[in-house]
Amino acid sequence: SVLMENVLRQRSLRLRNQQQAWKESPEGQNMQEFRRSLPAYKEKATLLRAISENQVVVVSGETGCGKTTQLPQYILESEIDAARGASCSIICTQPRRISAMAVSERVAAERGEKLGESVGYKVRLEGIKGRDTRLLFCTTGVLLRRLLVDRNLNGISHVIVDEIHERGMNEDFLLIVLKELLPRRPELRLILMSATLNAELFSSYFGGAPTIHIPGFTYPVRNHFLENILEMTGYRLTPENQIDDYGADKIWKMQRQALRKRKSQIASVVEDALEAADFKEYNMRTRQSLSCWNPDSIGFNLIENVLCHICRKERPGAVLVFMTGWDDINSMKEQLQAHPLLGDPSRVLLLACHGSMASSEQKLIFEKPEEGVRKIVLATNMAETSITINDVVFVVDCGKAKETSYDALNNTPCLLPTWISKAAARQRRGRAGRVQPGECYHLYPRCVYDSFADYQLPELLRTPLQSLCLQIKSLKLGSISDFLSRALQSPELLSVQNAVEYLKIIGAFDDEENLTSLGRHLSMLPVEPKLGKMLIYGAIFHCMDPILTVVAGLSVRDPFLMPFDRKDLAETAKAQFSARDFSDHLALIRAYEGWKDAERAHNGYEYAWKNFLSVQTLKAIDSLRKQFFSLLKDTGLIDENPGTCNMWSHDEDLVRAVICAGLYPGISSVVNKEKSIKLKTMEDGQVLLHSNSVNARESKIPYPWLVFNEKVKVNAVFLRDSTAVSDSMLLLFGGNVSSRGLDGCLKMLGGYLEFFMKSDLADTYLTLKQELDELIQT
Ligand code: ADP
Ligand code: MG
Repeated sequence: SVLMENVLRQRSLRLRNQQQAWKESPEGQNMQEFRRSLPAYKEKATLLRAISENQVVVVSGETGCGKTTQLPQYILESEIDAARGASCSIICTQPRRISAMAVSERVAAERGEKLGESVGYKVRLEGIKGRDTRLLFCTTGVLLRRLLVDRNLNGISHVIVDEIHERGMNEDFLLIVLKELLPRRPELRLILMSATLNAELFSSYFGGAPTIHIPGFTYPVRNHFLENILEMTGYRLTPENQIDDYGADKIWKMQRQALRKRKSQIASVVEDALEAADFKEYNMRTRQSLSCWNPDSIGFNLIENVLCHICRKERPGAVLVFMTGWDDINSMKEQLQAHPLLGDPSRVLLLACHGSMASSEQKLIFEKPEEGVRKIVLATNMAETSITINDVVFVVDCGKAKETSYDALNNTPCLLPTWISKAAARQRRGRAGRVQPGECYHLYPRCVYDSFADYQLPELLRTPLQSLCLQIKSLKLGSISDFLSRALQSPELLSVQNAVEYLKIIGAFDDEENLTSLGRHLSMLPVEPKLGKMLIYGAIFHCMDPILTVVAGLSVRDPFLMPFDRKDLAETAKAQFSARDFSDHLALIRAYEGWKDAERAHNGYEYAWKNFLSVQTLKAIDSLRKQFFSLLKDTGLIDENPGTCNMWSHDEDLVRAVICAGLYPGISSVVNKEKSIKLKTMEDGQVLLHSNSVNARESKIPYPWLVFNEKVKVNAVFLRDSTAVSDSMLLLFGGNVSSRGLDGCLKMLGGYLEFFMKSDLADTYLTLKQELDELIQT
């Protein structure tokens, strides 16, 4: 141990010398100058003192003040200066992979290093870190999985949880775990960082932990609500230009119509507010126009009009437009590109900003455009806090964000644009005042803003809790409902019950809520339980290649492109991959394999283009597949030998059955009627097929069941993707006994029974086999 101490001392001294040398170099000095200009710098001494004197500290400050890039660095630098560099270990969590990667790169650059020296990152399945990495940026999920194997976080000196104001599920979960861990690790330091000012909530959760606010400087931003915008621009709203009818997509249209009809809670709040509002100060025309405002429309024409106004009348400066999602951004971009002024590249640089954009596109967003060209960035709520575009002067806020909500009664996730909170609206507005006084155009009336909730509902209260329950059990945190009752805000009991019920159905929990061996394996895999189960079955049944493709595809996104103007051609292209075998997932497998073959022949791009496939998505799937494969190898679930793990890959029925194993109980019955196909699920009754599904083109589906990965509830419930399966597949792999199709079931058994017996997870299948035995005997 004396030897060890010496080694640590040597390393600490080396780290200190390196840090000193960088600070004295000319580039280092430039960087120091920039860093000292950030608001966080003024609080550096206060922050460091508070952290050394308290186990928990809450830090709040405006976006861009230097919390994420500076605070972890201050801690690192002070440890290194105190010659404790080699023994400190700082972990800073980020809610999104893209920010963990981007921030670590930035911090390494600020320290004059490459990634993997003193600064590194780790996100799901990838990361860069070295022996000397002392500051690690990771996603919250990565830290949670580390807790699985290291309950006390031994060896870690500081945990920084960033962006807690977002109230993500993982962050709320992590806080419960950390709160219980702190007494066991008195020397561990916990720092919580938040953008908005609800810091008291977190401080009181941790028994009145001190809160330090970093005062930021922003220029004043002038607020315009819809009524002022109409006055200012002279634009008139009519019922027609308040409908976003931009595509030929059938379902999309139905959704829109439903939205228009729907008298949802917020819509009636809006109506009441409009009724009661006093518009005396505005002229008659504006009042009339305002009464045509449609709260369910994103307002493409209105946005176009406001952008025109800015480009014609306003001073130079970039424009940031907040929209709800990737679809909206795309359609808006198409509409604007056709506009004589906004679509003219010599006057306007039109960019999109969303979670999965390519890094080349990302760079453009931060760059200054040429003189005389105005930069317009169409963004999702990602640009509210995680990304800072410095030259923004104008913000256009549609007032909505797509939020996943969870309908516990019907056990169905919903994805709908909903009104944002006051906090989010303030945050959006704040993005306009970073370099000079700014302007913010809210595309809704003032009275609607007044009706917004103060803060968004925490994710824990609006999403399914399956992965979380699995984690609670594998971390041995006791009863699930007791544990969750200790959260900042506890989820509904019904949501907890649904999740537990689901885990029992898929065989991850036994009847007493204990982890089964399948459950234990699932908790080690960093994917949703259903995808984990598919991987495990794929490994056991030796059909790894196709299953890897399906799982990677479901975790990335659909590689099939459906451009609005060429939807027919695109659908035909997709149908060719399905070859009438009634499966979106088999179509995905073929499309991926076709593209891989084309890649080998060096015409991958041409192939993708011709078949309406996204190369970017296919590449993402490709790399995720490799990562899942090595993960499965590490966990010992598959053999090194590619021949063995793909022995049955060519057997399409087996692949279908394994897909069924993963997606069960996501299942709908199929009844072919004369003119149509009737689909039903247990929870929803009748459901419909999404128009992008290959099965939506069929007039008859010669199978009794469809399994699906995703259903969305809009006005009706739509199955986004589906694979047709037989009775026997459902019986054997769905874990549910069906009285139909016994013959088919027995025939299939002949081929696969031996795999049940040989598998490592034999006990997981025991129940299944018992059911089978009973059936065979009767
Ligand atoms: P906060 O976490 O408080 O929102 P950050 O630490 O992320 O703030 O950013 C502080 C400042 O550092 C930003 O205002 C921006 O000017 C600068 N910055 C952050 N990331 C980058 C980057 N990748 N490139 C250049 N400047 C950056
Ligand atoms: Mg930050």
